[in-house]
Amino acid sequence: MAESTPNYPKTAACTCGALTVSVTAPPVSIHACACLECQRRSGSVFSCTAFYARADATVRGAFKSHRRVAESGRFNESNFCPECGCTVFSRLEAWPDVIGVTIGCFADPAFEQPGTLYWSSRRHGWLATPPGVATVERQ
Ligand SMILES: [Zn+2]
Ligand SMILES: [Zn+2]
Repeated sequence: MAESTPNYPKTAACTCGALTVSVTAPPVSIHACACLECQRRSGSVFSCTAFYARADATVRGAFKSHRRVAESGRFNESNFCPECGCTVFSRLEAWPDVIGVTIGCFADPAFEQPGTLYWSSRRHGWLATPPGVATVERQ
């Protein structure tokens, strides 16, 4: 469970601002993931996602979706702005009652840190894990 902060609601947005997700309560969980698929999807060396109860999140604006199938055989759906291509939120077949919001889209350097880094076995060698972040070799 992520630590709660008082500054809600808050809004995540794509780089052009057309696609947003507003949340009214703290996330139920925050994950980083260094799997190779997240590296490709994010264009970075890991993804960082805050998961909210669907009832606490409101999506505004047009989006396109892409589903990839995880090792588990279930889909992980990225939802991105058709104009600027930025992934703002995701949905997991394995976890239907939550919506994952890409933490970078909050543009908030004070955002709570992730509780877990998944796929640490795929982590780039220079990437250290700070105290308080558990690592899981796979998922
Ligand atoms: Zn956009
Ligand atoms: Zn991943």
